[in-house]
Amino acid sequence: MGIQKILFFLILLFAVNTLTYAEIKDQKEAPLMTFDYKNQPEAFWEKYLKGEQLSVCRNHGTERAGSGLYDKFFEEGTYYCACCGGDHAVFDSNAKYDSGTGWPSFYQPVEGGVIARTDPHDTLRGLVGLGRTEVICARCHSHLGHVFDDGPPPTGKRYCMNSIALTFSAKGTPPKRTYTVTEAKESQKSSPKSSKETAIFAMGCFWCGESEFRDDSGAPLKGIISLRVGYAGGSTTHPTYESHEGYKEAVKIVFDPLVLSYTKLLDIFWHNVDAFDAKGQFCDKGFPYTSVIFVGNNAQKKAAMATKAEIEKHFGAPVHTEILESQTFVDAEEYHQNYKHKNPVRYRYYRWNCGRDQRLKQLWPEKSLPNSPKED
Ligand SMILES: [Zn+2]
Repeated sequence: MGIQKILFFLILLFAVNTLTYAEIKDQKEAPLMTFDYKNQPEAFWEKYLKGEQLSVCRNHGTERAGSGLYDKFFEEGTYYCACCGGDHAVFDSNAKYDSGTGWPSFYQPVEGGVIARTDPHDTLRGLVGLGRTEVICARCHSHLGHVFDDGPPPTGKRYCMNSIALTFSAKGTPPKRTYTVTEAKESQKSSPKSSKETAIFAMGCFWCGESEFRDDSGAPLKGIISLRVGYAGGSTTHPTYESHEGYKEAVKIVFDPLVLSYTKLLDIFWHNVDAFDAKGQFCDKGFPYTSVIFVGNNAQKKAAMATKAEIEKHFGAPVHTEILESQTFVDAEEYHQNYKHKNPVRYRYYRWNCGRDQRLKQLWPEKSLPNSPKED
């Protein structure tokens, strides 16, 4: 082998080695690329996001129209998802236009930036064919906004976003991180200890109340360990469907607060009761049907009272939902459990005739929280 060939091999070997080293070094310094944002518990998000940003990204909130940073903002550059730290690109300024709605609007996302899906929060709108299409970050699955079919060419789409869920970096500048997280840091904390809490809600007919805590397939929402309908708050020993004097029809939810918060459960509760009915719920009148939050601890009581005050303020009317410190609960007969999915036809017939959805739509035309605006 000539000296030149040996030299060539040496250089090649060096180059390959350097390359491998650089790659490994890169991986070590960029753990963010592989961090599994979309499967983090609520506690994770509460640590990194605060206030309105947490509410929009993780609780499907909407910023007030015209209040965001990027509504009337047209600089050239890239928009990133702020929910997962501001380094995952979701939109480009070249697809941005002024929709006049008060929210930053784009006619298309960057490739692989977002996922559009049937809005799982629009259960009431969905029933009447008005369900929206939610836009979530493809990386962390946080809520960014909605997409509508009234946009400009070439796509005809209007991606209506919340400014607070976005960060912007001018053309040619790197993304601005809003926070950083490394896998090592998060995994060090070992898997969070599993914890359990119980929530009990009386929401009128328990078939309907229970169904709100399940997804379309009939499975309990993520974070729910067990979901039962039964009789709550009474004192006799064997309440039955035929005889449960002193008890309310109720739903008992055992849940993992690290995955699903009590606040989220309260949110579902308030959106699915008529808090202003002192005599019962919808078509069902009488003691067993009035709405009650049966709290199990002080934190639950505080949260329940705070949300009750919010509802009163929002509607300017007294709320008749009671908050009681008791978690006495007896399971109802098996045929009442998951009734909606066992008897879909009878369930829908009953629910429609009871006027539940009609009244709920009146109360919550946009199914939004009292502190969030109506449309995005
Ligand atoms: Zn994200």
